[in-house]
Amino acid sequence: MFINSTSTALKMIPVAQPDFGGNELKYVQDCISTGWISSVGKYVAEFERNFSSFCKTDYGAAVCNGTVALHLALVALGIKQDDEVLVPNLTFIATANAVKYCEAKPVFIDVDKETWTIAPEDLERRITDKTKAIIPVHLYGHPCNMDKITSLAKSYNLFVIEDCAEAHGALYKNEPVGSFADAGCFSFFGNKIITCGEGGMVVTKNKELYERLVLLRGHAASKDKKYWHSEIGFNYRMTNIQAAIGVAQCERIDSFIEKKRQNAQIYNENLADCNSITLPPEKEWAKNVFWMYSVLLSPDAKLSRDNLLENLRTKGIDTRPFFYPLSDMPPYKSDVNTENEFPTTAFLSKQGFSLPSSALLTKEQIIFICNTIKEILNSAK
Ligand SMILES: *Cc1c(COP(=O)(O)O)cnc(C)c1O
Repeated sequence: MFINSTSTALKMIPVAQPDFGGNELKYVQDCISTGWISSVGKYVAEFERNFSSFCKTDYGAAVCNGTVALHLALVALGIKQDDEVLVPNLTFIATANAVKYCEAKPVFIDVDKETWTIAPEDLERRITDKTKAIIPVHLYGHPCNMDKITSLAKSYNLFVIEDCAEAHGALYKNEPVGSFADAGCFSFFGNKIITCGEGGMVVTKNKELYERLVLLRGHAASKDKKYWHSEIGFNYRMTNIQAAIGVAQCERIDSFIEKKRQNAQIYNENLADCNSITLPPEKEWAKNVFWMYSVLLSPDAKLSRDNLLENLRTKGIDTRPFFYPLSDMPPYKSDVNTENEFPTTAFLSKQGFSLPSSALLTKEQIIFICNTIKEILNSAK
């Protein structure tokens, strides 16, 4: 992912790169030298405390990745076979897969043209007697319109689980994502805003839910009776080593976000005169954390998005296309009946892409990337 393994000698500017310039090694060394390498150890609780307070929630349950954070939250809230869960059609596949793991049905919702996140006006008509929850995804670092989502959820008695895997520290009306819903699910994969290698967390303000999450992540093991299990749980625990990295990353999370926002500013200034590129959104009520600095190529441009990305690759610039619509992919195709009911998802998926977004990027690199994009677009016929 970070190391480009193509045979070309060209050194690529990666889309993402972790920054381990803090206490990461020191805390990991502490785990090794004390022998606390599994899920018992002081760093797990410390990471849960620090990160949940960063999210302005009361509790955090650390788990081994972001996908199981979503699964665990759904199970703990009682989502089960044949329930329906509303999910945006434009997201990483883990959001929908977690619903499938419960044998429930993801119901896809188109996204909003302006924020690229789940479209509140498309939600209500998809609610049925079977609908139990909504999973808004704060895509590429921009928060969803939470007031509209939570008020709809309230009137239909639905759970809300925020998928915050791409938006640590993003604000909706000055409050952090993860703090609006029944549960907020985060990922700490290597390319996320902070990382533990692999890792995840469910944050919540609900004590009862938190206790359920902790029980289920550890095989539902009884506290007082050894090897007694009252129900079927999971081993979804985070290790002390992962958490040690997380604690160190958490110490610097504000500076990572600040750097990503500065980078976005430099990109915006240098792409402003490029008519074929639509810059990333930031609504007046939002603080975008630009997990990925993502833009759209105009369909009127003289070359296709994929063609542009291929050209950038030959110049040493790595990129990512936007996600495919979930409803187009083999596991989900049969779940949707009519085609073409997701016009915005289809458009964004075809025209969107992410540029190098690491907090380690230099201003010179960003200017080089912008100039290269403009050169490629101008010379296309
Ligand atoms: C990364 C990501 C996940 C899954 O996280 P993992 O830690 O990789 O399992 C879930 N949802 C979204 C939107 C993501 O980007």
